[in-house]
Amino acid sequence: MRYLILSDIHANWEALHAVLASAGSLYDRVVCCGDLVGYGADPDAVVQWVRNNVSSVVRGNHDKACAGLEDLEWFNPVARQSALWTQAATQPENIQFLRDLIQGPERINGFQILHGSPLDEDEYVVSEQDVAQVAPYLDCNVSFFGHTHLQGAFLCHRNGVKRLIAADTASGQEVLELENDVTYLINPGSVGQPRDGDRRAAYAIYEPAARLVSLCRAEYDVASAQKKILDAGLPELLALRLSAGI
Ligand code: ZN
Repeated sequence: MRYLILSDIHANWEALHAVLASAGSLYDRVVCCGDLVGYGADPDAVVQWVRNNVSSVVRGNHDKACAGLEDLEWFNPVARQSALWTQAATQPENIQFLRDLIQGPERINGFQILHGSPLDEDEYVVSEQDVAQVAPYLDCNVSFFGHTHLQGAFLCHRNGVKRLIAADTASGQEVLELENDVTYLINPGSVGQPRDGDRRAAYAIYEPAARLVSLCRAEYDVASAQKKILDAGLPELLALRLSAGI
């Protein structure tokens, strides 16, 4: 079984489409670490696709907010405006799907998926120190997470935490061979709003039997995604940041 690992799609249909074209037939199942919507202009298309194609998905903080489960006062003004726009622009059955998403971690075939940290879906895990703090709460040797929009992997060993791959992958693909008796916390990166200085859509492919994780990037039609954001009347910043991947 090979898994396509997605996270932080953020209603960016062009980016999702490019990831699926890039991954081709290299996977059997799709799982998602949350944030299907928010920021982007295609919430219905993305949620509908997830409903039809993703076998396991946990909710992200934007899914919670757009489903009306979060007090938007905690969001910055741009995120709040996009959450309100998404609530109004999304079909009721897709809002209901977001509302019903389970909170991670969710265990799947010996690994798990979660949004922020194993303790809190709103917590950012960015540094080695952050990983050291949450590592005791990881139930599996391999966990995939999102929320930071930074692609990369951490190895947790009794000697400490090591960052295995820098967030910025220049080649478009990095393959990681997983060792036994080591805990991994891996971020596939963000499909729809990368923030690691690489504008390409990010995803991962995991083959548990071969103990291989591929971290991948795919070029996508950024201009079309930007035009939709501007045409929808969403904040200009949300379109601009896609060009730079920040
Ligand atoms: Zn996100």
